[in-house]
Amino acid sequence: IEKIRAKEEANEKYFSLEFFPPRTDAGCANLLARLQRMSQLGPLFLDITWGAGGKTAQRTQVIAQGAQSYVGVETMMHLTCTNQSVESVKEALKEARKAGIQNILALRGDPADGSEEWTAADTQLRYAADLVRLIREEHGDYFGIAVAGYPSGHPEAESYEADLDNLKAKVDAGADFVVTQLFFDAAIFLKFRDDCVARGINVPIVPGLLPIQSYASLRHLSKMASTPIPVEITEAVEAVKNDDRAVRDFGVTKAVEMIQELWAGGVSGVHFYTLNREVATSQIVEALELVCPPPRELPWKCINTVPKRAV
Ligand code: FAD
Repeated sequence: IEKIRAKEEANEKYFSLEFFPPRTDAGCANLLARLQRMSQLGPLFLDITWGAGGKTAQRTQVIAQGAQSYVGVETMMHLTCTNQSVESVKEALKEARKAGIQNILALRGDPADGSEEWTAADTQLRYAADLVRLIREEHGDYFGIAVAGYPSGHPEAESYEADLDNLKAKVDAGADFVVTQLFFDAAIFLKFRDDCVARGINVPIVPGLLPIQSYASLRHLSKMASTPIPVEITEAVEAVKNDDRAVRDFGVTKAVEMIQELWAGGVSGVHFYTLNREVATSQIVEALELVCPPPRELPWKCINTVPKRAV
C-alpha cells in the first residue's frame, strides 16, 4: 500500500497483473515461467486469485508464494470466505505470512461450484468486511488489505447506493485500497470513483481492466461481471469474431484508449485481468510506454548475499 500511495501522490502511472491458479501441476510450472517473463514489464505487484469454493486454494498458495519469492515481485493473494471457517482462514494467513506475502485481497467469494446462491460456511464470515476485520484482529497492520469495488453495483446489492455503503464498511473495517470489477466504459468508472469520494471512501481505487481477447470470453465475462458492453464494442467484435488476432488487436486498441481516458480523469493505476495470457496485456503496456523492468542486482551485490565460508 505504501507503494500505491507513493505512486498516487506523485501521480505516477502504475499497473498490476492478475492471474488465476491453473488446474494442473504442469499448468502451474508454465504460469510461473510466464510470471517471470511478465515481471520484466515492471508491474507494481502480481495478483493471484482464489478459486471459487476454495477448490484450488493450495495452488493459489503455491503460485502466490512462487511469485513472491521465486519471481521476486511483490504479490497479493486473494482470500475468500466461501467454504471457509475462521480456523481455515487463520491457517491460510499464517502460511501466506510465512511465505513473505504481505498483501491480501479480502473477498466474500463467488458461490461454491454447483450452487446458485452464496451461503456462509461459518456465521462469522458472511461478508468481505468480516474477513477484513479478522485479518486486522489477527495480524494488525502486517498485511496490506484490498477489497473489491463494483462500478456498476454488485448484482446482489439492494441498490448501487447500498453497495457503496457496503464498500465504505469494508474500508472502515480496515481495507487499504479497492480494486474494481471490470467495465468497458471509462465514464462508468470515473463516476463510481467520484461517488466513492463523495461518500467518504478515501483510499486508492484501482480500476480493473479486461483486455478483450476473444469473442466468447467477452460475452461470458461481461455476463458474469454484470457489466454492460457498449454497443460499438459488441458490433466491432461481432464483425471480426472469427478472426482471433483481429479481436485481440481491437481489444488492445480499445484498452489503450480506455486507459488514456482514465488517465485524463486523474487515475494513476490500472489492474489487468490477464486471464493468464501474455500477448494482449504486454502489447497494451508497451503501447502506453509503461514498461519499467525491475533493476538487476549488481553482480558484486549478489556476491555479498552468499554466506561466507568459515575459514
Ligand atoms: P461483499 O463485499 O461481502 O459483498 C457481497 C454482497 O453483499 C454485495 O451485494 C454487498 O452489497 C452485500 N453486502 C455487503 N455487506 C453487507 C451487509 N452488512 N448487509 C447486507 N448486504 C451486504 N471471487 C472468487 O471466488 N475468487 C477470487 O479470487 C475473486 N477475485 C475477485 C477480484 C476482484 C477485483 C473482484 C471485483 C471480484 C473478485 N471475485 C472473486 C468475485 C467476488 O467474490 C464476487 O463478486 C462476490 O459475489 C462478492 O464478493 P465481495 O468481496 O465483493 O463481497
